[in-house]
Amino acid sequence: MSAPRVTTAPRVVAVTESSPAALSGLLPGDELLSLNGRSPRDVIEYSLLVDEPELDLVVRRRGLPAPLPVAVRKEPGEPLGIEVSSAVFDRVRTCDNHCEFCFIHQLPKGMRRSLSMKDDDYRLSFLYGNFTTLTRFTEMDLERVLTERLSPLFVSIHATDPDVRADMLRNRRGATSLRWLSELLDGGIEVHGQIVVCPGRNDGAVLEDTLAGVLDRYPDLATVACVPLGVSTFSHEDAMRPHTVDEAAAVCDLVARWQDVFLSAIGRRMVYAADEYYLMADRPFPPAATYEGFPQHENGLGMARAFEAAFGGDEHAALGVRPGFFAAVDGAPAAGYRAPRLAPDTGDGGSTPSGGAGRPIAILTGEYGARVLAPLVDSLGRDDIRLVPVTNHFFGGNIGVSGLLTGTDLSAVLADQPEGHRYLLPDSCLSEGRFLDDLTVDDLPRPVEVVPTDGLSLRRALEGTGPSTPTAPVRVPVTIGAPR
Ligand code: SF4
Repeated sequence: MSAPRVTTAPRVVAVTESSPAALSGLLPGDELLSLNGRSPRDVIEYSLLVDEPELDLVVRRRGLPAPLPVAVRKEPGEPLGIEVSSAVFDRVRTCDNHCEFCFIHQLPKGMRRSLSMKDDDYRLSFLYGNFTTLTRFTEMDLERVLTERLSPLFVSIHATDPDVRADMLRNRRGATSLRWLSELLDGGIEVHGQIVVCPGRNDGAVLEDTLAGVLDRYPDLATVACVPLGVSTFSHEDAMRPHTVDEAAAVCDLVARWQDVFLSAIGRRMVYAADEYYLMADRPFPPAATYEGFPQHENGLGMARAFEAAFGGDEHAALGVRPGFFAAVDGAPAAGYRAPRLAPDTGDGGSTPSGGAGRPIAILTGEYGARVLAPLVDSLGRDDIRLVPVTNHFFGGNIGVSGLLTGTDLSAVLADQPEGHRYLLPDSCLSEGRFLDDLTVDDLPRPVEVVPTDGLSLRRALEGTGPSTPTAPVRVPVTIGAPR
């Protein structure tokens, strides 16, 4: 007999005007005790339940002595029109690993609690594209994933040698948990893999061995991303250090070699190195076509090439929000996980003209972003646009990506910049309107224009036709039960 489920009721945090929920009298703060007699354990179950045209809810409302029945009648498939406070109602499954390279262990003290949550939950993998090591995955989880077709999922591989993997995760179950990967792939689930490459630990011969293991045991994986470890100044792991230039170049070469192997063995490249590797090695990025549709764009693979193509006018390359990697179920919250960002500005209306014509423009970006943007900005031949690279002093170490910029570092840089200029900021460094250090754009010493992080939106913002203020984030509805 399985243990009883411990669930907290989904709490309503927002009700859409004129929606079935609003017309039925649901209010923010209401707790949904049951939907058609069921208590969903997560937003996946919840979204299946609220799909029904006839919904009988039992609601706990503050101030009322007893639960309140609420009947909702709507069209089949019509959104209920509420946002709930959490994606998982029976507690997020936290990770029981202790990886040396874990960035959560390298955060400065005092950051908000949700940022230090170490989740290892296949549901958040499905909902938000978080990576799971599968060390806490169970037979029941497998049954649910296969039955409900929770696909795609994102799995941390790191090494296929059981001992190396257990060592890297500092968890004995790391040696065996990839057996679930085989089961998922055999069941037809789309799975994307990730290898965090740590120099001296799983690069070189170990990485060769891992990719050989992938080809041998997991050839049905959709993609495998090789990403460099991030090392902040708060790391206490002596063995963890950034790659040298030669080590980064070796990863680029090894991945290129293995792409050829995969291409001839299974007809696709499967394995990719993160853009950071080419920047570290001072190498040109591989051609856009080699990314085969940018399947791990959101995780920094081919982002520079996609940005370049979109900046040149290719609307299909404006991959600001991607279903499957950055998806949110209708009604699910993003806070605490990966929050939705702004939609790419496709110029089809809805954006606010910047009205900043004639003023000099400064593009705020991380140190890596500046290197990607420099040739694109140069190609415009305009002397009124400048790049303002922002060094990440908040985390320090080798952290150079724009997505980890904080309000503190931006404030320090902006304070020295002239007033009256336009300052463009990529939305990738904001989550639910906040930087990682909890500051907001209103805390910055100069007004900034938040621009979706894709080339097309930046181009339009530079031309003065893009959005000048944050517009509503886009939620990409997930179709439960059907492969995406
Ligand atoms: S599995 Fe992820 S969250 Fe858990 S310790 Fe490793 S890196 Fe950190």
